[in-house]
Amino acid sequence: MTIVRTRIAPSPTGEPHVGTAYIALFNFCFARQHGGQFILRIEDTDQQRSTPESEQKILEALRWAGLNWDEGPDVGGPHAPYRQSERGAIYLEYAHKLVHEGHAFHCFCKAERLEALRQQQQARGENPGYDGHCLQLSQAEVSERLASGESSVIRMKVPREGVCCFDDLLRGRIEIPWSQVDMQVLLKADGLPTYHLANVVDDHLMQISHVIRGEEWINSAPKHQLLYHYLGWQMPTLCHMPLLRNPDKSKLSKRKNPTSILHYQRMGYLPEALLNYLGRMGWSMPDEREKFSLQDMIEAFDLSRVSLGGPIFALDKLDWLNALWIREMNPQDFMQALIRWRFQPAYIEQVLAQVQGRLQRLSDIVDWGGFFFRGQLSLQAEQFVHKKLSSTQVRSILQCLLWACEQSMLWDHERVQFLCQTLAQRMEIKLRDFMAPLFLAISGASSSTPVMEAMAILGQDMVRARLRHALDLLGRPSREEEQAWAHWVADLD
Ligand code: GLU
Repeated sequence: MTIVRTRIAPSPTGEPHVGTAYIALFNFCFARQHGGQFILRIEDTDQQRSTPESEQKILEALRWAGLNWDEGPDVGGPHAPYRQSERGAIYLEYAHKLVHEGHAFHCFCKAERLEALRQQQQARGENPGYDGHCLQLSQAEVSERLASGESSVIRMKVPREGVCCFDDLLRGRIEIPWSQVDMQVLLKADGLPTYHLANVVDDHLMQISHVIRGEEWINSAPKHQLLYHYLGWQMPTLCHMPLLRNPDKSKLSKRKNPTSILHYQRMGYLPEALLNYLGRMGWSMPDEREKFSLQDMIEAFDLSRVSLGGPIFALDKLDWLNALWIREMNPQDFMQALIRWRFQPAYIEQVLAQVQGRLQRLSDIVDWGGFFFRGQLSLQAEQFVHKKLSSTQVRSILQCLLWACEQSMLWDHERVQFLCQTLAQRMEIKLRDFMAPLFLAISGASSSTPVMEAMAILGQDMVRARLRHALDLLGRPSREEEQAWAHWVADLD
């Protein structure tokens, strides 16, 4: 009998996404239900986009949600390291083995050739893909070019004819013609693996039995299947989950919905309610009950009852469920939930340091400090009218800071100050005027405690949510405005 081992394999390239928690939840329940293990692996092979801050946030967010892993970069385990950037030598070995055994080849094609090829293919209406140019090189020529130090990548060989068939736990047999499968680069010129090689090697070495992941990876499955075959390994069972969608059915995106788990944490959603809601995405309890705990879900879990219609992530439904969870908590748990949310001494201390100098009476605390605890503020568009700024300028200030906030991996007082000063300077607006709409958007009043510090204390997600809220009120930029404003936020590092 195989031991069930599942994994979540996030790439640390941004904020922890609710889609990651959703996939992690299903992997977690499946493993727990079978008495198996759930593993967390960090897929940070994209060196340019991966950051340790993002990894940290992903770990924190998943832990906050209550999805604890048995093995991972922080807790270790028998298959360590669990961070792909520390496993370089392993991938190198397999890439060379594949070349040696004739399943992969060195490719010396330069970017210009590949780009020209892509354009020709596009003009002919063909699928873009590598044309096998370097497959024709003789062994002697390859050795010579390698010896001379010429840069190359390693690509996998892919049949040009026939159809790849594989089974998906939810979708049954899937067929994809090999002609649609590119001769994927496995090892880049810098010696680092691509997702495909690292993912297959690790899933095998970490003895993953079931790969449960989003449906956007279906088209990668043929490459993976072929790699398992070339390496003489058994492929794990595949299961591609339906993608979460916005209410308009488009793929869940941060343009339309907050997607960061940290946003939900800051806004005061209970982790139990968020998991409950994610559990209802494409799945339901056998008795159709709406409210259930993680433990209930594990006990009743049945992966084959996931339905494939795109599940809609709707905030009003989540609000309803969160309210139900709050209402039905016992008073001690309710108090603990509040403490865990915003009532920890460390947070309160920061807020108090901001307001102390402003209070005449202690009871003024709510007036001065209330916005540190609110979710969305109630604002009116008229409040943003400013004597020195046009309404377009007001919107551009809010939008540029929002962009800067979305791009920034770091978020503290110094960073906020740098962003505000740099943007004000680039936009040729006096800092004092630049800050006016921000006071309103962030604190809800035209004067408050120092707003840059408030932004640092409130945290990036809350700042982002409030800027967005103000922009929704005043009007999001048009395409033309976006283009005209974008240069102000270029290269803010
Ligand atoms: N690193 C991939 C991601 O970010 C993992 C995909 C998979 O589960 O194979 O989603």
